[in-house]
Amino acid sequence: MKTLRLKSGKEKSLLRRHPWIFESAIARGGADPGETVRVESHDGQFLAWAAFSPSSQIRARAWSFVETQRIDAAFLASLCVRAVGARSYFDLQSDGIRLVHGEADGLPGLIVDRYGDTLVAQFGSAGVERWKDVLADALLAATGLAKLYERSDASGREREGLKPVTGWLRGEGATEQVIREHDWRLSLDIATGHKTGFYLDQRDSRQRFAEIAKHRRFRRVLNCFCYTGGFTVAALAGLKAAGAVEGAELTSIDSSLPALERARANLALNGFEGANAQFLDADVNASLRRFIEEGRRFDAIVLDPPKFAPTVAHADRAARAYKDINRLALKLLEPGGVLLTFSCSGGISADLFHKIVASAGLDAGVDGYISERLGAAPDHPMTIEFPEGEYLKGLVVVRK
Ligand code: SAH
Repeated sequence: MKTLRLKSGKEKSLLRRHPWIFESAIARGGADPGETVRVESHDGQFLAWAAFSPSSQIRARAWSFVETQRIDAAFLASLCVRAVGARSYFDLQSDGIRLVHGEADGLPGLIVDRYGDTLVAQFGSAGVERWKDVLADALLAATGLAKLYERSDASGREREGLKPVTGWLRGEGATEQVIREHDWRLSLDIATGHKTGFYLDQRDSRQRFAEIAKHRRFRRVLNCFCYTGGFTVAALAGLKAAGAVEGAELTSIDSSLPALERARANLALNGFEGANAQFLDADVNASLRRFIEEGRRFDAIVLDPPKFAPTVAHADRAARAYKDINRLALKLLEPGGVLLTFSCSGGISADLFHKIVASAGLDAGVDGYISERLGAAPDHPMTIEFPEGEYLKGLVVVRK
């Protein structure tokens, strides 16, 4: 068994059961990519079993903090069973579900989403890459399904020294899927969509938007970074429940044409083809500036940008980008209007995000009530031991 010996004082985070071992914490030792290593403190005390990753800053990720635990196929299969079973703890109003959320489920680097009868997996660390076949079989056994598509093409794989891989890993079938979410349906493509095909993490924020739309009967809705139109469909579902679709104007912006085409199709899929909806293939920042020049105003705005800060190192530049779009959006809101604003950057804490929105308000000369805080749906859990799991933060701001 190969060993990693840590520098003195570097055992603290592992003792708190935080699963990452940074390159800078290691005094000596190494192994092949994904190989299991015994991690020891500077004086030889056992700390964890971990998967080694020779080229990543996160040089090893812990599998277990129990010395007697064997890291083998049976152990990994038991983690898959637990992760899949844990989803029944949550009230998930969808048949698109995240079954494995990496570190939070004890499987560092592994993401698995279920869309109907198909699993889609991202193997994002050297550890899960090495155990790919075992994990694929275990996931199918745990769910009773036969089809698993691999979408190991996220940028994190490069940092692990792994090449992108996509395609059917087990079984095969249609890559086009239609899921039911709350009161609506959404189509997606697991081969060509973002991430594993869809942003399941925003499920319950879309539902909140539907509820708020129903209550407030918005007339002018702006959905920025709309992707395949989820928040637009949700707004329409809420307006429909209030009998207020007629006369409502919905504008959705994204810089991806295929996403916009699917957004349009998703409106039709829900019977909203007759709604007054506009889809703009454009840059959000430039569009917001243009709307201000044109004197346009909105009753509701969603800002759900991509990850501006993948790590804390990018936080400064990202903070400026977040502040800028929030400032513009706040200016475009009618008094009483509602802004749903999000950051999915792990490098921006909830606290920092709140400060960014505050300073955007100050610059815009706009005050507002923060009426709710939003986060990822519960199948994207954060755990007590892994606070980095809180990546998606949202605020509902009502302009004074
Ligand atoms: N709200 C969406 C998810 C948004 S993901 C949902 O509920 O499904 C972020 C989206 O921002 C992506 O679709 C991406 O194509 C788009 N995007 C990235 N940069 C952009 C820019 N500068 N202007 C407009 N859209 C952009």
